[in-house]
Amino acid sequence: MELLKHTALELGAMIAKGEISSADVTDAVFAAIEAKDKDVNAYIGLSEELAMSQASALDAAADGPLKGVPIAVKDNICTKGVKTTCASKMLADFVPPFDATVVEKLKAAGMPIVGKVNMDEFAMGSTSETSYFGAVKNPHDLTRVPGGSSGGAAAAVAAGEAVCALGSDTGGSIRQPASYCGVTGFKPTYGYVSRYGLVAYASSLDQIGPIAKDVADCAAIMDVIAGHDGRDSTSLNVGHKSYLASLKGDVKGKTIGVPEECFGDGVDEDVKRAVLECAKTYESLGARLLPVKLDFMQSVIPTYYIIATAEASSNLSRYDGVKYGFRADKINSVDDLYAESRSQGFGAEVKMRILLGAFVLSSGYYDAYYKKALNVRDRIIAEFGEVFKRCDALIFPVAPSTAPKLGASLSDSMSMYLSDIFTVPVNLAGLPGLSLPCGVDRGGMPIGAQLIGARGTDAALLDLGFAYQQATNIHRALAGRA
Ligand code: GLN
Repeated sequence: MELLKHTALELGAMIAKGEISSADVTDAVFAAIEAKDKDVNAYIGLSEELAMSQASALDAAADGPLKGVPIAVKDNICTKGVKTTCASKMLADFVPPFDATVVEKLKAAGMPIVGKVNMDEFAMGSTSETSYFGAVKNPHDLTRVPGGSSGGAAAAVAAGEAVCALGSDTGGSIRQPASYCGVTGFKPTYGYVSRYGLVAYASSLDQIGPIAKDVADCAAIMDVIAGHDGRDSTSLNVGHKSYLASLKGDVKGKTIGVPEECFGDGVDEDVKRAVLECAKTYESLGARLLPVKLDFMQSVIPTYYIIATAEASSNLSRYDGVKYGFRADKINSVDDLYAESRSQGFGAEVKMRILLGAFVLSSGYYDAYYKKALNVRDRIIAEFGEVFKRCDALIFPVAPSTAPKLGASLSDSMSMYLSDIFTVPVNLAGLPGLSLPCGVDRGGMPIGAQLIGARGTDAALLDLGFAYQQATNIHRALAGRA
């Protein structure tokens, strides 16, 4: 288990030197899963045979700093021959006939895939409690949620049941669970990582990214997964320099904006204190802090939940019980087949969102809700554009509080939606966002600071995060490495 205290890059270096083998690390991951996952429930499925055969057949893989390092993959990312359930009864038996582009890239880089990590059903949620396969628990306190929807990915890394993982982020699903679990998560610029093979939730917002022990690991994973892909029409055709090689840790002369709206009422005092201390650390490292205003903050939740549910209602219409997915039996007509398969196959939260999305798209309401939300989205993009003329990055909390108790959000969807306030604007504008552990609350639960930048500043943003982690120890302490 000691092996798993190391970061992905440290393990990759030890494997490259021949001090340990990829099979040693992969074995250790499965032993940790065996020991801990009864409590944490981070995994939906394991791919032990595939992972071990990948670990012992590394010769063909491209040389890179993560060669041989095992990784876990969120269960909404297609893996050929390995079940991809989206944590839904609807896809409980779905075995994709193809790999997502990111999975192809992990394989080409020689990273064994240990299994598929748990999540909110179809990535809709902020707590990982809506999974058909049971709620994920926060390894720092098993009575609390790990965040969501990539809760299994963050919990697996935090519990030492995975060295690193891929998650997806539509409105915060990488950054928020990373923050609740005390690990590092990065949502890239929209279009930087291919969505081919990512089961769609809200296509104009979805983006795949890494969750790991630190920023350097996230950068190294970005080097593996980023890049143009002709199979994703929204993939950007830009050159990607090495993210890992861009890490210099120099923040001198950078201007970091501090939006006052993100430190007001409704934000936990411990969260404010820790994130402001993180900002002060940047100041002491040579950055300039600049108070800024984000006037759109009160509109981001309705805007996001209208656009996300509208896209979801359209994307999820493909699950009709005909071509694949759950099919209800004892059916008399085609209409019944659709209605029963969808009623029985989807959970309550997913059904609620499909209904809301169908409503905002329906004739008579389209202009009042959906079109208006698109207009507000444009204004959010424009306002961010103005702010980024004056700042290299912004810093604010990932979430207004630390991880709530299990069950608390299930009875109160509205407060769960409101807790997404600081993460969803980043997706609406297609920006990169980094979640960095920066402290703990009075109960010892991790707090995350969020750094965001203009589109395409992913490398610079990761470098800012790297500088903080070089100067401080909290990410190591939370991973039991200090
Ligand atoms: N909590 C947000 C939602 O439920 C974000 C989820 C995500 O990023 N997949 O829509």
